[in-house]
Order: sequence, then C-alpha cells, then structure tokens
Amino acid sequence: MLTLEIPRDILEAMMEQARIEFPIEACGILAGAGPRVQRLYRMTNVDQSGGHFMMAPVEQFRVVKEIRASGLQMLAIYHSHPATPARPSTEDIRLALTPGVACVIVSLQNRDRPVARGFDIRDGRTAEIEMRIVNAP
Ligand SMILES: [Zn+2]
Repeated sequence: MLTLEIPRDILEAMMEQARIEFPIEACGILAGAGPRVQRLYRMTNVDQSGGHFMMAPVEQFRVVKEIRASGLQMLAIYHSHPATPARPSTEDIRLALTPGVACVIVSLQNRDRPVARGFDIRDGRTAEIEMRIVNAP
C-alpha cells in the first residue's frame, strides 16, 4: 500500500489554494522522497472548470524537470473537488495515467471543513492510500 507523509504546512497550502481557486478545480504536484512530501507546486488548471482539470503542459514540463534536477520524485498529483466528495470521479479514474503517482483530492463540499484523501489509481481500479500528516521539522 502506498503511503504519503505530508507536512502540515503543505497540506494547509493545498487547502488554501483550493479555497482561493474555488469554484474552479485547483491542481498541482507534490514532490519529495517517498513517502515524505517536501514540495508543493501549484499548477494552472487550463480547463478553468469546476468539474475537471488539466495542468498547463508548459508548467508541468518545467516542474517535472525541476523535480528531477533536485533529485526528488513526483509523489502525487492533487486537485480539488469544489462541490463533490474527496473521491475520484469516473473521469479521474479514466485519466489517471501515472501509476505509482498518488491522486490526492481536496474536497470543499463542506467549505469550512475541507477534506483531503489520497488514492492509488491503476488499470481503472482505485485504492485509498494512507496519508499521514506530519509536523515538518
Ligand atoms: Zn476529480
């Protein structure tokens, strides 16, 4: 089972971005050395939609290069669900083309209490992964 360790400030930055970009889906990349997340990269949702997202390809290319150059790995792609639960949609499952990279979803269904959950999606199957929130050193 995949596990992610997410420092509390990164979790909060992800939720803050979801609130700022509401009602559009926010998206981005978490990088680190498995399982520990060390960096968050905010990405632009070029779809500008509240129902799906696509990361801007130019940004994605630049970030993937930067992650590699710093000797880290891409651990997760995150996005927000402005109005639906923190569960992968049919489209999230269909478009998950990066096995081994977790799918993290922040739900703002209850805007006062955002919820983040992580999933391992491969071959059309979804398994929830453990997300441990840690206090960063
Ligand atoms: Zn989604």
